[in-house]
Amino acid sequence: MLVEDEILLLVDCGLGTLFRLGQTGIDVNDLDAVLITHHHIDHMGDLLGLLKARWLEGGDSLSVYAPPDVGDIIFKIIEIYPYLKENVKVKVITDPVAKIGDIFMKSIPTIHSVECRAYILESKDWKVVFSGDTEPFKELLERAEGNILIHECSFPPRFKVSNHTTPDNLLQYIRLHRPSSLVLTHLYPQAMEWRDEIQKMLSGSVDLLIFAEDLKSFEV
Ligand SMILES: [Zn+2]
Ligand SMILES: [Zn+2]
Repeated sequence: MLVEDEILLLVDCGLGTLFRLGQTGIDVNDLDAVLITHHHIDHMGDLLGLLKARWLEGGDSLSVYAPPDVGDIIFKIIEIYPYLKENVKVKVITDPVAKIGDIFMKSIPTIHSVECRAYILESKDWKVVFSGDTEPFKELLERAEGNILIHECSFPPRFKVSNHTTPDNLLQYIRLHRPSSLVLTHLYPQAMEWRDEIQKMLSGSVDLLIFAEDLKSFEV
């Protein structure tokens, strides 16, 4: 969740998001938009529940920025449930660039097993790069140079994998394109056990290294 003045943007809506939103006290109707990186269930599993909650709370149509196949999936599921079809209000926007309030959004494709988008969000005072699911790659990391990078780190050090990130392959890029702050997210259980080593590997290349946790917040 990114909060800027009056604008609330939710980036991805995986399973558990609705529950956590409730714990933050944010009303589903306060969301200005949801940005979905890709259709995997850990990134959009609660989206339909969010849309239904918004209907039940009497909210407006929700803008969902996403790759085209995410829209296809949402509308196919809504089609199955006549009561949702009649009531849920959603606008799926596939444009890769947009202005949402005073925030400029640009998305670029990542390196993943399905179409996935990284989001670059920028206001007059800050720039935040969300990697989505991906291997690290130059075009993304150079946009994060000197800015805040929220990057996945699914696997532990020395793990051989494609379409996702390990601390080793992320390190190659952040040495070249130093983000001011690095927030690691999407750690699988086997990576969680290596947090101390990951911290040692990466913290020398950024001013601030944070491991994302549910309900954790920080100022940009
Ligand atoms: Zn994925
Ligand atoms: Zn994922």
